[in-house]
Amino acid sequence: MRADHRLVITVLTQNTQGMQDMQDIQVVIVGGGLAGLYAALQLERFGIAYVLLEAQPRLGGRILSLPISDKGTGSGVSDVGVDLGPTWFWPHQQRMIRLCRDMGVQVIEQHVAGDGLHQHSSAQVTRHRAGAPGMLSYRLAGGMQTLATAIAARLDPQRLRLAHAVTRLERLGDSWLVTASDAGESNAGEPRQFSAQQVLLAAPPRTLLQHLDLSASLRALLPASLSASLLTALAATPTWMAAQAKFVAVYEAPFWRHAGLSGQAHSRVGPMVEIHDASASHESGFALFGFIGVEAHVRSGHSADAMKRACIAQLTAVFGIDAQRPVATYLKDWAQDEWTASAQDLTQSPQHPALDLSPWLPELQRLNLHFVGSECAVEEGGYLEGALRAVDACALSPVLAAEA
Ligand SMILES: Cc1cc2nc3c(=O)[nH]c(=O)nc-3n(C[C@H](O)[C@H](O)[C@H](O)COP(=O)(O)OP(=O)(O)OC[C@H]3O[C@@H](n4cnc5c(N)ncnc54)[C@H](O)[C@@H]3O)c2cc1C
Repeated sequence: MRADHRLVITVLTQNTQGMQDMQDIQVVIVGGGLAGLYAALQLERFGIAYVLLEAQPRLGGRILSLPISDKGTGSGVSDVGVDLGPTWFWPHQQRMIRLCRDMGVQVIEQHVAGDGLHQHSSAQVTRHRAGAPGMLSYRLAGGMQTLATAIAARLDPQRLRLAHAVTRLERLGDSWLVTASDAGESNAGEPRQFSAQQVLLAAPPRTLLQHLDLSASLRALLPASLSASLLTALAATPTWMAAQAKFVAVYEAPFWRHAGLSGQAHSRVGPMVEIHDASASHESGFALFGFIGVEAHVRSGHSADAMKRACIAQLTAVFGIDAQRPVATYLKDWAQDEWTASAQDLTQSPQHPALDLSPWLPELQRLNLHFVGSECAVEEGGYLEGALRAVDACALSPVLAAEA
């Protein structure tokens, strides 16, 4: 490591979980979604000490696959997960393809063989013959969570601090003082403070603005015009899919495939507007999932049970009586997830993020403050691939390269 890049971070407070204080920690990562985990993996590969602070009691962020067995169906359908967050990546997304290969997770093609359906009204459904194959998309057998789990398994567990919500970033000479509050009941106690020279912010900008006193930090550290324009740009960056809700129904058998259907359906009726085969693998965990088209503020007026009943009724109208009795159902409303959705995301129509941080990069690099969440990627922003791109583009990379 080059001497001028030597970074030293020391945990200032005694942690109450009995773990030893870490010395010579070099980087603090805020957020344990794909971006934070991938950043940790890179740092660990090069022997650079870090601590990852994640607000929630689990890792993965928007990656969320729930094990079917958790529902206690006893059906033995599958003990692996159904995706309630991201499902797909695509052949041009080479970083994702490489990472999945390196992590040893099993990539499968999205099931698309068979005819599609179109629901015009509650009573009218038309069938469309399978035409030319659509765009190839990939999924992970067992759910996207297998990737987050595989990365986490390669990380030092002592460096991963769950239920640590970062609330403040302050400058202390040449380093950062990072304050994390207890975000879970099991973690009650004093706020923890970490001194760091480099901070990686691995979360959507709007989430950071909502939970972290970032505005105050930036105003104190950047010239007035720069901090004002940066805060405006960050606040204007939508969090991809933040206002979405997903419904998954698990079945004993893939009856739609047996009927020559792909599982794909589009609907003008709703509540789901787009439905796909979501089976956990080609052999087990047979499932259909749909994106709910009802807007977040309307959804909030209905109970989860009512929404699930409406989705099952729609699946029955579209796919027939076999769809009426799923062995398990799942609903995830991301609009109600405080670590994903902000107030603006709920009121604006969905947009891809387009954040170009280059006007502020010299100042941010001087401060050793790096935005590496997917929404901060110059290309593929908002996607899983974007999370990997944002980390790879981070100014820490030359340090890593020098280490290699
Ligand atoms: C329903 C849905 C479907 C999607 N489908 C796809 C898809 O098919 N393909 C695709 O490529 N992408 C998809 N996406 C987008 C994809 O999930 C994201 O691009 C990716 O997960 C972003 O990873 P990230 O680490 O940048 O952010 P996140 O996953 O949002 O992780 C940020 C983490 O930071 C934590 N955090 C936030 N603030 C703090 C704080 N103050 N202190 C500590 N921790 C904090 C959060 O708890 C979270 O764990 C989808 C997203 C959703 C919601």
